[in-house]
Amino acid sequence: MAGSTVKIEGAKFILTVDQGRRIIQDGSILIEGRDITQVGKASEMAGVAADRVIDASEMVVTPGFCNGHMHISYAHATRGIFPDSLDPGDYLTNVFALQSAMTEEEEYLTSLLGITELLKYGTTCFLDPGSTKFLDTCMKAYEESGCRIVLGKQVVDQDNPLNLPVYPLNEAVSIMEDTVKSYNGMLDGRISAWTMPFASEYCNTDLLVAAKDIADRYNTSMTLHQSNARFAIDFHQQKYGKRPIKYLEDIGVLGPNVLLAHVIGVDPSEVDSMARTGTRAVMCPTAALKMGQGITSKGMLPEMLEQNICVGLGTDAGNNSSLIEAMRSMYLITVIFKDARQSTSMIPAETALEMATIQGATALGLDSQIGSIEVGKKADLVLFDTKRPEWRTMFNPVNNLVYNADGRSVHTVLVDGNVVVEDHKPTFVDEWELIQKVQELGAGMLQRTGISFPQRWPIV
Ligand SMILES: [Zn+2]
Repeated sequence: MAGSTVKIEGAKFILTVDQGRRIIQDGSILIEGRDITQVGKASEMAGVAADRVIDASEMVVTPGFCNGHMHISYAHATRGIFPDSLDPGDYLTNVFALQSAMTEEEEYLTSLLGITELLKYGTTCFLDPGSTKFLDTCMKAYEESGCRIVLGKQVVDQDNPLNLPVYPLNEAVSIMEDTVKSYNGMLDGRISAWTMPFASEYCNTDLLVAAKDIADRYNTSMTLHQSNARFAIDFHQQKYGKRPIKYLEDIGVLGPNVLLAHVIGVDPSEVDSMARTGTRAVMCPTAALKMGQGITSKGMLPEMLEQNICVGLGTDAGNNSSLIEAMRSMYLITVIFKDARQSTSMIPAETALEMATIQGATALGLDSQIGSIEVGKKADLVLFDTKRPEWRTMFNPVNNLVYNADGRSVHTVLVDGNVVVEDHKPTFVDEWELIQKVQELGAGMLQRTGISFPQRWPIV
C-alpha cells in the first residue's frame, strides 16, 4: 500500500519472533504504509530514508501483543467495586446487571478507556468475546483508537443463571451471521468478526453446529467460554454422557477455527480432542488466579504445548482479573506452572512471549498478518524504553522482558503503521479527560442499579 514511511532506527534489540526467532541487536525496521518492508541491522539500513524516523536507541522492540479473551466494554466504569471474596456466580450476576444498564454513550466511553489501557501497555490486538451491546457506537472507539479487534455478538438459546438474553435458534443464528457479514474486514481489515455462542452449557447442539458452519462458510472463526468448571462438566455428563470438549468434537464443533477460552478443568482425553482437531485455546492467568479457578492445580498448559496445541493469552474482564496487561499475563504463565509442577523447566520465558505474540496471533487466525516482526506483516509494534532500573542490567532481553519489566516501560506503540502511543501517551484521546468522564458515569451506573458492596476498611 502506498503511504508514508516510518523508520524505527537503531533499536538495542528487536525480538522478531520470526521463524528463526532471531533477536537483532542494533536493528532497524522500515514501515511503508501499514506494512513492514525491511528488517535488519541498523548499519545495513543506514542509507534508508523515511518520512518519519523514530530513534529507538536503548529500546527493545517486540511485536504488538495479542489478547485472546478480553471483555472490553463494561468493566472500567465500575472497576474494583467487587470484594475479592465474592463468589464467581455472584460476580457474574452483578457484572451482567451492570452491563445491561449501560447506555450507548457509556459503553463507548468505557470501551475507549479499556482500549487505551491495552494499547498503552502494548496490547495491539484483542478479542472481545461478544459482550459489547452497541457495536455500531463502539466501532467509533475502535476506529479512533486504531486498535485491531476480533468482535462478535454473544448468543445463547437456553435459560441460564447469568440472565443472558435467550434467543430462539433462528434468531440467534441470524444475529451471528449478520454480525459476521456486516463487520468482518471493516476498518481496513483491522476488524475480524466471529461467531460467539457464549458456552456449550447454555446453547443447544443446533446452535453450536450453526455457529461453526457460519465460521466455516465465511472463512472466519468462532469462540466459546470453555471453563470446564465442575457444573459444566456435570451438565455435559448428564445431558450427553461425555466430557464437554469430547461432546464438541462429536458434534463437529472443534477445529483450527475454534478458539476455546479458559480451558482450565480439561482432562487428558480432552487435550487429545483438541490436538486431533487442531483446536486452539486461550488461557487467562490473571483472571483464573484471582477467581480461584484452579489453573495451578488443574491447568494442563504443559500438556497442551507438548501436543503442539496453539495456546494464546487472555485476561477476561477488567473487573474479575483486574489486570489486563499482557506483561503480567506473560510473567504469570511462566511462573505458575514452574511452581505447580515444582520444575523450572516449565513454560520458558520464550514460550510466554510466543503466547503473547505469534501463538496469540495464530489463535486469532491472524498469524499471516501479525504476531512477528517480518517483512510483509502489518506494523503492529511495541517499543520499550529500557533506560529504567527494572530493565537493567540487560544481556538476555527476553528474560528481562518477561520477568523484570511491565507495561510502564512501553514508550511507543504502532498498529497498522500508525503511532497510537508516543512517549507513553495515547495519541488518539485526552486520557485524563476520558478517565474523569468514566469515573463520573461509573458513579451514575452504581446509583441507577443500586449495586454496591461494603468495603472492609472505612473511607473517612
Ligand atoms: Zn469471558
